[in-house]
Amino acid sequence: MDKKILIVGHGLAGCTLALTFYRKNIPFKLIGCSQVGEASMASSGLIAPITGRRYVKAWRIDEFVPKALEFYRWTEGLTGGEFFFPVEIVRYLSHQEGRTAWERRLYDPEYAQYISDKKSAKLDALNRPYGIVTGGYRLDTPGWLNAVRGFLSEKGLLEIIDSPYPTDTPYEGIKIFATGAVDPSVAARVIPNKGESLLLMMPDWRIREVIKEEVFIMPLNDTEMCWVGSYYDPWPDNPSPSQEGKERLLASIEKVYNGSVKVVKHMAGVRPTVNDRRPLIGPLAGRPGQYIFNGMGTKGTSLAPFWAEQLVAHITEDLPLPAEVLPDRYIP
Ligand SMILES: Cc1cc2nc3c(=O)[nH]c(=O)nc-3n(C[C@H](O)[C@H](O)[C@H](O)COP(=O)(O)OP(=O)(O)OC[C@H]3O[C@@H](n4cnc5c(N)ncnc54)[C@H](O)[C@@H]3O)c2cc1C
Repeated sequence: MDKKILIVGHGLAGCTLALTFYRKNIPFKLIGCSQVGEASMASSGLIAPITGRRYVKAWRIDEFVPKALEFYRWTEGLTGGEFFFPVEIVRYLSHQEGRTAWERRLYDPEYAQYISDKKSAKLDALNRPYGIVTGGYRLDTPGWLNAVRGFLSEKGLLEIIDSPYPTDTPYEGIKIFATGAVDPSVAARVIPNKGESLLLMMPDWRIREVIKEEVFIMPLNDTEMCWVGSYYDPWPDNPSPSQEGKERLLASIEKVYNGSVKVVKHMAGVRPTVNDRRPLIGPLAGRPGQYIFNGMGTKGTSLAPFWAEQLVAHITEDLPLPAEVLPDRYIP
C-alpha cells in the first residue's frame, strides 16, 4: 500500500480498524479527540446472538461471533488484559407465543449453539418461565478501549488531539472516518441515539446470567457490581448523563430488586444508529480517497471486527463490499 492512511475517531470502531491494519502490517495513523457522548465508553459490550420476541438469530451472527472471538482474544494477547467474556442471557418466556417459539428453536439444529434447555436453581426459585441463550459474549468496552489506546499510543500510531479534526482538512492519501454519532459532518444518515447506563453495587443480586427486564442487568465478573442500562433516546438534546436518566434506570431496578444499591458510575453515550439497522461502510460518494466506518448502532462489539477486515480488504485488495452496507445506498 503506497498511500498514507489516516483514521479519524478512536472509539471501538476506529481502534478496531486501526488494529486490523496493524495486524496486516499496513502503515496508518489514528487520530482521536475524546468528546462527551462517545458511545463506546458507555457500552456494556454485549453480543446477544438471539434477538426479538421470536428468538431469531441476529444478522450474520454465525460469521460475526467467531471473528469477534478470534479478534478480541488476539487483542488481549497484545495488551496483556482480559476483556472478552462468555455470557449466558436469560429470556423470560412470559407469553404462550414466546414459549412456543422457544420450544421450536430448541429442536432446530441451526440454533443448537444459542438456544439451550439449561436450568438454574436461582432462576427456578423466581417461578417465572425462562430460557437461557448461550454463545453470547461481553466486551468490557471501556477497559478494552483504554488498553488499546495505550498500546497504539506507545507504538506512536495514535495521536490524541485536543479538538475535533476538521473533516474537510485536505489530505494526500486515504482518510477513513470512524467518528460515530458525535460528529455529524461526515456521518449523514447516522441517527444519534442516546443511552444511559449505571454501574451499580448490588451485593444481594444473586443471578449471574445477564437478564433483560425493563433494562439489561449484567453482573460483572467476580464483583458485586452490575452494569445496568439502557433506554433509547433518538436525536437527544444533549449527550451528557442526566438526572432523569439515572432515576429512570434506578426505578426499573427497584421493580425487580429490593436489596441495597450504590451508584458507582453514571454514563451516557450516543449510539450511531441507522434506519435500516445496517452499518455504513465503504467509500464516501463524491469524496475520492475518503471512506466511512460507522453506523455500528447497538451492535458495535460484534460488527466492528468483521467489517474492519472487510473494509481493509476493500481498500488494499479492491475486494467488493456488499451493497447492503455501502454508504451510497442512501444517496440516489
Ligand atoms: C448505553 C449504551 C449501551 C450499549 N450497549 C451495547 C452493547 O451491549 N453491545 C454492543 O455491541 N453495542 C452497545 N452499544 C453501542 C456501541 O457502544 C456502539 O456500537 C459503538 O461503541 C460505536 O463505536 P464508534 O467508535 O463508532 O463510536 P464512538 O464510541 O462514539 O467513537 C467515536 C470516536 O470518534 C471521536 N471523534 C468524533 N469526531 C471526531 C473528529 N472530528 N476528530 C477526532 N475525533 C473524533 C469521538 O470523540 C469518539 O471518541 C451501546 C451504546 C450505549 C450508548
